[in-house]
Amino acid sequence: MKYFSTRSGSERVSAAEAIIRGLAPDGGLYVPESIPCLSPDDFAELCELDYRERAARVMAPFLGEFTPEEVRGLCEAAYGDNFDCAEIAPVRFIDETTAYLELWHGPTSAFKDMALQMLPRLLTASLKKRAVEKGVCILVATSGDTGKAALEGFAGVPGTRIMVFYPRDGVSDVQRLQMVTQEGDNVCVCAVEGNFDDAQSGVKRIFSDAAFAEELRRRGWFLSSANSINWGRLLPQIAYYVSAYCDVVNSGLIIPGESVNFCVPTGNFGNILAGWIAKRMGLPVDRFICASNENNVLTDFINTGVYNRRREFHLTNSPSMDILVSSNLERLLYFLTGDPEKTAGWMRGLGEEGGYDVGEEVLAKIQADFSSGFCTSEGALAEIARVWAEHGYLIDTHTAVASAVLSAYRCATGDETPTLVVSTASPYKFCSAVLSALGTPAGAPGHELIGRLEGITRTKAPAKLSGLGEKPVRFTSCVAPEDMAAAVDGFIG
Ligand SMILES: *Cc1c(COP(=O)(O)O)cnc(C)c1O
Repeated sequence: MKYFSTRSGSERVSAAEAIIRGLAPDGGLYVPESIPCLSPDDFAELCELDYRERAARVMAPFLGEFTPEEVRGLCEAAYGDNFDCAEIAPVRFIDETTAYLELWHGPTSAFKDMALQMLPRLLTASLKKRAVEKGVCILVATSGDTGKAALEGFAGVPGTRIMVFYPRDGVSDVQRLQMVTQEGDNVCVCAVEGNFDDAQSGVKRIFSDAAFAEELRRRGWFLSSANSINWGRLLPQIAYYVSAYCDVVNSGLIIPGESVNFCVPTGNFGNILAGWIAKRMGLPVDRFICASNENNVLTDFINTGVYNRRREFHLTNSPSMDILVSSNLERLLYFLTGDPEKTAGWMRGLGEEGGYDVGEEVLAKIQADFSSGFCTSEGALAEIARVWAEHGYLIDTHTAVASAVLSAYRCATGDETPTLVVSTASPYKFCSAVLSALGTPAGAPGHELIGRLEGITRTKAPAKLSGLGEKPVRFTSCVAPEDMAAAVDGFIG
């Protein structure tokens, strides 16, 4: 299986090369030249397997240079007892037609673990395949969840180092504590004076500094990123859609071949796109419902075909979805048109004019698979309270956005297709918002709220989160944005 860029169909590279490079040289994203198919017989077999084996079966056809045994080995290592539940990605039903797909049983209690427990393994295996002798240093600018998930994924992985920059004034208490207490000899965490954009621009500057790259090469290192444009992050996410479908079949709620819907809380469009690729592989899905918070650029896009990032940016209580440029949408546009020139043109429009219009024909294709809606911060709190009161099931703010959008979608359409709400974070990761949704004002440091939420709901916090208060803080430095390169330099040594 070869890969090429969404912006030029010409240069074809292997899966390993695509994963090592992350971004294509022309600025496009790597896509596979074709999408492998799963037959009804394949699905029948998959239903009998556990999560690791399902993931290996789904991923292997995309990874031509790797043998099925190698892929199975990667899956066994990525999805083992680093997860706090044997099913890895369990499906919880709350009624006859609604279930939540819990993707937050990994080490950082958010769904990014599903990809970031796999990416470091895929990346180091790819480096070996390509006989790359240099070490890889991962740089991450994070507004919260990605940084910690990347740290957990790369900590202790031989031949890698990881440095995470977070905005001093822009992450929650729990998120900051999760990062600054990170263990491992190959990790470094550093605050940046300013907001997420300052941290992000700083990292981008380092990536585009050729002299700095050359100096690092001389010392045996190259820089890479762990963000969601890397194919190695998207690929592992396809597996949980397939696995969830098998679980719904096994529950007896649907017969094999019957369709389900997925409702997905969306930011960068990575999660929901992985589901759409699963559908292209043959997974019986009727609709994907794309759920946004007040940063509803995707809702407008799916309704009108016009993408317009020139709008007010809102800080919401679902911060991991506070995004105005959904990078993975570029892959969908390429898949729907097969036209790299058009795709490149739209992306140019996004950069130069802040938006683009895909026109009637492409819009019709998008609407054939996607519905959309958005939900405010207040609406998310009300939904947390409703689901808790009616079903005794606790959800976080991101999942609540999807849950509320699903309710509105059902009211508007009458669609009774069994639907999985993709649940992307443990409610304990966003204690303060969840507590206020349940009518208990917060007002204490984040990690102290964990006990309070446990007491009120008689549910159990993930062990890694409850232990946070006792862990030693390892990283305390804070730098100005212009000093970030020096910090990387000092870390590499
Ligand atoms: C990253 C994240 C999302 C958004 O996922 P995308 O793949 O960017 O659409 C939603 N919820 C949580 C908790 C996240 O961490």
